[in-house]
Amino acid sequence: MFWADKLLESVKGPQVINDAWTPSGIVHMGGLKGPVIHDTLFKILKGKGHEVKFTFGFDDMDAIDGLPQELTKTHGKYLGIPICNAPAPHGQGSFREYYSSTMRDLFKDLDIKADIYLASEYYRKGIYNKAIQFVLDNADGVRKVYADMYKKEISKDWYPLQVVCPNCGKVGTTEVNDWDGKEVTYICRKDKVEWAQGCGGSGKISPFDGNATMPFKVEWAAKWWTFGVTIEGAGKDHASSGGTYDVARKLVKDVFGVEPPLAIPYEFFLYDGHKMSSSKGLGLTGEKLLEVLSAQIARFLMIKTPPNQAVEFNPHQTLIIPKLYDDYQKAAAEKEGDFARALELSQIGEVEKIPSVRFSVLAQWVQMPNTEEEIKKAGAQKWAKYAKVWVEKYAPEEEKFEVQKKLPSQVDSLSSDQKKYLAALAEKLDVKNAEDFQTEIYELSKQLGIPSKDAFASIYICLLGKDHGPKAAWLILSLDKEFVKKRFEEASK
Ligand SMILES: [Zn+2]
Repeated sequence: MFWADKLLESVKGPQVINDAWTPSGIVHMGGLKGPVIHDTLFKILKGKGHEVKFTFGFDDMDAIDGLPQELTKTHGKYLGIPICNAPAPHGQGSFREYYSSTMRDLFKDLDIKADIYLASEYYRKGIYNKAIQFVLDNADGVRKVYADMYKKEISKDWYPLQVVCPNCGKVGTTEVNDWDGKEVTYICRKDKVEWAQGCGGSGKISPFDGNATMPFKVEWAAKWWTFGVTIEGAGKDHASSGGTYDVARKLVKDVFGVEPPLAIPYEFFLYDGHKMSSSKGLGLTGEKLLEVLSAQIARFLMIKTPPNQAVEFNPHQTLIIPKLYDDYQKAAAEKEGDFARALELSQIGEVEKIPSVRFSVLAQWVQMPNTEEEIKKAGAQKWAKYAKVWVEKYAPEEEKFEVQKKLPSQVDSLSSDQKKYLAALAEKLDVKNAEDFQTEIYELSKQLGIPSKDAFASIYICLLGKDHGPKAAWLILSLDKEFVKKRFEEASK
């Protein structure tokens, strides 16, 4: 059974699925795995007739705790303040919208049907007031979970809350030390974190209506409790043993007294065995991924492997993308089984018609002239667009070729047998059918007693300037007959 069907097999009653992301940087292709997995579960449950909601939060009350190199000058002063209060990197708008608009677009492209909400709005509208009151009243319980999980003493004057400093606006630098049932006592520390400096101010303030935010793990548990979330997975960075996901799950159980959501820890995409990282330039952004994969195939990539397995995806100079297209075509032919189910769940709206040509062949066609008709016949116009991008940006050198406008200098390396072969082939170009012609090209080499490898190489050398290429018959037929005839004659002299 497909992993997602299995996971949801025993789920009963109405369901609330949630996922979240911090809008403070580019959207990595790995950042789409969570949204696609959750959306797939949403789709399955809806299909089974469950009452189900799917919400997705932009965690914009988090402090800005790091910046891309190009922003360190202009945005250094915003380190420590909540994302929702910083201006956009360039020109108009907010920091949050600058980054989250990309995610919103990707959601549209991938048909992810989540209701998006902003954490800052939940805080400002008082939706989290009850949870804030609860964690402050039960601070001891939170301390105990922290102490258990981290095996260290948590001081009695530590409270699970950080106020947005009314003086300097930073949230990453503050601590709450007391709670009287109405107001918290806070201090904004100069040296609390390395990446931002607080103002040193202190005072009392109401913790409600957006004045403060709960620490990440506490907020996670509070969210599950407030909205009755029943399903929420987490990527490996949070879901490792004893990590934030475990802490949040223990908090919701021990402090709030409710069951944690269905656990779905998921692994990363790897790039040559390493975790993809935008800061190290390893891997692809979500936008780049959708330049070379259709939305359906991108979704297929995210779910075809069970989430507890890492997926290697270095597309540069490899055949990983053509292979993915091959897998997708195979899944379409299978009709049943895990791959077929993954394909079914990857569809957007109408079921996509699968082209009859392999992606690797399509990648050759897009490099040849006059192949539009062939591409159309194979129903591959949409995939041809992706094949072009693949050839331009990712394909290994041996997959690329270009018909040379002039006789390439490499023809000097042709043997007299190869020249003889080309001269003979020049007289046999009156053909229509590529399959038959391919056989004929091969037969001719046998007739002339020249190894077929040398025969084919001679064709490629005089047309492409290299000793290998796409299927010769298709290549020749894609070109103007007179041009080929003349080229073969020239080369055979
Ligand atoms: Zn301050």
